[in-house]
Amino acid sequence: MDETSRLIRAGSKAPSGLNRTVGPPIQKGSTILMPDAASLYDVTQTTYGRAGLASHDALIDALTELEGAQTVRLFPSGLAAITGAIMAVVKTGDDVLVTDGAYKPTRRFCENVLKGRLGITVRYFAPDASPDEVMALANGKTRLIVLESPASLTFEMQDVPAIAAAAKARGILTLLDNTWAAGLYFKPLTHGVDISVQALTKYVGGHSDCFMGSAAVTDPKLGAALHQAIIDFGWAVSPEDAYTMLRGLRTLATRMERHGASSLKVAAWLEGHPQTGEVLHPALPGAPGHKLFQAAYTGAPGLFAFVLKDAKPTQVHAFLDALKLFGLGFSWGGFESLALDGDDQFKVRKIKKDYGGPVIRLAIGLEDPDDLIADLEKALTAARSA
Ligand SMILES: *Cc1c(COP(=O)(O)O)cnc(C)c1O
Repeated sequence: MDETSRLIRAGSKAPSGLNRTVGPPIQKGSTILMPDAASLYDVTQTTYGRAGLASHDALIDALTELEGAQTVRLFPSGLAAITGAIMAVVKTGDDVLVTDGAYKPTRRFCENVLKGRLGITVRYFAPDASPDEVMALANGKTRLIVLESPASLTFEMQDVPAIAAAAKARGILTLLDNTWAAGLYFKPLTHGVDISVQALTKYVGGHSDCFMGSAAVTDPKLGAALHQAIIDFGWAVSPEDAYTMLRGLRTLATRMERHGASSLKVAAWLEGHPQTGEVLHPALPGAPGHKLFQAAYTGAPGLFAFVLKDAKPTQVHAFLDALKLFGLGFSWGGFESLALDGDDQFKVRKIKKDYGGPVIRLAIGLEDPDDLIADLEKALTAARSA
């Protein structure tokens, strides 16, 4: 054979010839070489790489275990998991109820795509609305209730098990953005939620360097709907990213323990500070939503917010600019601590609420919590004199 031909096949041993390593092989491929002609159109076999290969299968198995799911599907980002799961179950003419505390891009999709282009009505309920208040909005066309508990900026909790049960009784689906609990500290599917979504980008990845989202279900019909949407839209994630997410998952529980303990220490310190108003951390005793947290969660994540009491915008910037250990930036769940002010994101909310000052969100990383407290102390001093 000519070298040009030999170079096309060199080094392509069958996967069964691989040594067994701790992680899965990062198998790359669009084409899957089928064993014979009859296999080409055999729907029981994987015939194209977009459906996922070895590292995807390994990640899906692990997430199925984490979520207690029947099926888990992967999406190219956390946002794509939310929008993709919604697209898998809604159609023109449907009505969708969404928490007013939803992560801003979720709302943007609801406004621009569902409402703006697909003729689906979207209505919002207060992020701490009771199950009765949520269900009072439902009508004969309501297909889906989109929950985010707690709200990832202001941390209001919803009574997810009660809303899921009431929705089920009326034939309405529920979707929960469970990114805060990382699939670890709250199990949406065992509490009756139909579609459990999380941005793996955050805690599962854990290193602020990779995008992915997952949607988990127990009902095979919903699993088939997710699968169909993925095929219809052509979504895929890379084998390297699937490997990276699986590696993050291995240390998730260990990291979460540290994130949670440190966040509670920092939150308790902030609570006693004269410049702060409410500390919005559902895992903190006495904080808003703590009863709902206690009833269904098994641990505390590291993301929360607090009110910088009566602060002016210049003081908010002085506070943020004085932070040395906290980076300023979006996203969270990585090893490094982050801070941001949430006011810009409040502008899109339908239901206005006065928190008594600007809301600052902190993502507590894996640093020593006393160092983080010292950093916050200096920043609060800077805000006072601004
Ligand atoms: C970040 C985030 C998402 C989206 O994740 P991406 O991977 O960044 O698209 C969804 N929901 C919540 C609550 C988030 O914080």
